[in-house]
Amino acid sequence: MKEGSPEINIIGSTSEGAKEDVRGILEEDGMRREIILEVSKGEREKSAEETELVVSVLDRIKEFVIKYGGKPVNCSPENVHFLRDDSVVREMLTQDPGSVDDQGFTPLFGKDAYVVCKTPGNNAENAHAVVHEVLHVNSFQSLTWSENRKGVRRVGFAVRTKNGEFFTGINEAIIEELTLKFLKKYFSELAEEPVIEEFYKKEREVLLEITNEIYEKSPGKFNSDEDVFNVFASSVMTGKLKEVARLIEGARGKGSFRELGKITKDGDKQPKNITK
Ligand SMILES: [Zn+2]
Repeated sequence: MKEGSPEINIIGSTSEGAKEDVRGILEEDGMRREIILEVSKGEREKSAEETELVVSVLDRIKEFVIKYGGKPVNCSPENVHFLRDDSVVREMLTQDPGSVDDQGFTPLFGKDAYVVCKTPGNNAENAHAVVHEVLHVNSFQSLTWSENRKGVRRVGFAVRTKNGEFFTGINEAIIEELTLKFLKKYFSELAEEPVIEEFYKKEREVLLEITNEIYEKSPGKFNSDEDVFNVFASSVMTGKLKEVARLIEGARGKGSFRELGKITKDGDKQPKNITK
């Protein structure tokens, strides 16, 4: 595997041969290619200023991903695609509400991020969309590869099963909280356009409620609810859910982790307003 390329984690098979098979299948996968081709139709050229913005995000995202325990993926500015408007994304949303999010689209197991960026560019909005999608690219991803089931198993915090994708809302809330932290830390110089805090508001409220509750019910274990959030954030990057599951069940009782998965399940959410 090339250094800095997205890692393919396979659950149910660990042989190198299987890994190669999967990589080949993913690269040749017609459906995935078709989707990317479809999205690419809406692509527009980035201005020099926008390219500069992407470069500065990519420069800083590596240390940010490492801070939360992740392995940075080597994206270059060519891997970040700007879409003319949200029409392609909107079309994808009507076909499959879970396939894209508010600000763009991140194909699995790749380095590419497709981002809805307004023209003329507002730096704060564009940086927001780029950071959010590039964080998805850098988050943990794994596949199930067994006789019975072949397909995506994990995307960040989210878990896909034959019954749907669980924890989707939590995954988006964590990615969006990380996006806001990144923008506040590195892009305060863009403050003439304030950081937008409207995306995934409901999902972020659910997350905040849990991290507060864990903090309050674990006296002496954490210095702040920010420390609790860090455990959630690192699970998005590393894929390890055990610690978070233990914390949630410690605060809310046995079975509550599973329950949270259900209430933040993908199938239950409505297509979101992507023009916000
Ligand atoms: Zn997202």
